[in-house]
Amino acid sequence: MSDALASCRLCPRECGADRRVSRGFCGESDKVRISRAEPHHWEEPPISGKGGAGTVFFTGCTLRCCYCQNFEISSHGKGFGLTVKELRDCFLRLMDMGAENIELVSPTQFVPQITEALDMLGNKRPTVVYNTGGYEKAETIAMLEGYVDVYLPDLKYYDSELSMKYSGAADYFEKTIEAIITMQKQVGRPLIEDGLMKKGVIVRHLVLPSCRKDSIRLIKELREVFEPEDILVSLMSQYTPMFKAADFKELSRKTSTFEYESVLKAVEEAGFEGFFQERSSADEDYVPEFFDKKYY
Ligand code: SF4
Repeated sequence: MSDALASCRLCPRECGADRRVSRGFCGESDKVRISRAEPHHWEEPPISGKGGAGTVFFTGCTLRCCYCQNFEISSHGKGFGLTVKELRDCFLRLMDMGAENIELVSPTQFVPQITEALDMLGNKRPTVVYNTGGYEKAETIAMLEGYVDVYLPDLKYYDSELSMKYSGAADYFEKTIEAIITMQKQVGRPLIEDGLMKKGVIVRHLVLPSCRKDSIRLIKELREVFEPEDILVSLMSQYTPMFKAADFKELSRKTSTFEYESVLKAVEEAGFEGFFQERSSADEDYVPEFFDKKYY
């Protein structure tokens, strides 16, 4: 087992937990836990392809978003344990099912075990996608060099008061933008072959109700850091009040068409290309079923 878990500083929380005997802020010990591993057809088109993204949802999270759609696994700990070898077998199963890639969802707290499992795949390693809430340390992203091909980070907020209030992380923007810069240097500009993403970074932004101005500022800041060709942007509209969102009056409704379209305009003015959701998608059920026992 990696020394990194004896005094864990894998994420910006740097809580120092000895995960051999306890759990960190993320809620996880040194045992890998997942809650679902299935092909998923609702990611951006070059991530899902025809066969679906090979999503593996890891249990626990380094953020505490009050509106989290996946709160059962991120905050309530729903999931089941796997050895590293079983995690390797889980990757192989998804490849056998025809998934286009392995997509690691909320993987930060298990990076050492994930790289060990990927090493076990040897030359069978597929395209690996790292799907994260964005709250990452650049040093941990550096550990993934040669393992991850495509990064899919969220960039949720610019303002530190908002990121503290809604996700419990005042330093969210500074940590996340530094991590995204490291990701982009590592994998380079987007490369799409035969409709499938092979390399690059897609920055995802979910437009929250009542946060339009912060979203527009965030897009401007992103443009200060990246040329339009460096990254793709995925602007998401499917916010639905869930989990503890009802505690915040301003988050207790869906994002309006005006709010979404004004952020979309900022993305277009910045020159970024990428993926933009139909407004109707806000009504669709995006939350998959999660499991607390091994089910496959
Ligand atoms: S990954 Fe978990 S245990 Fe490690 S520093 Fe972050 S919150 Fe703490």
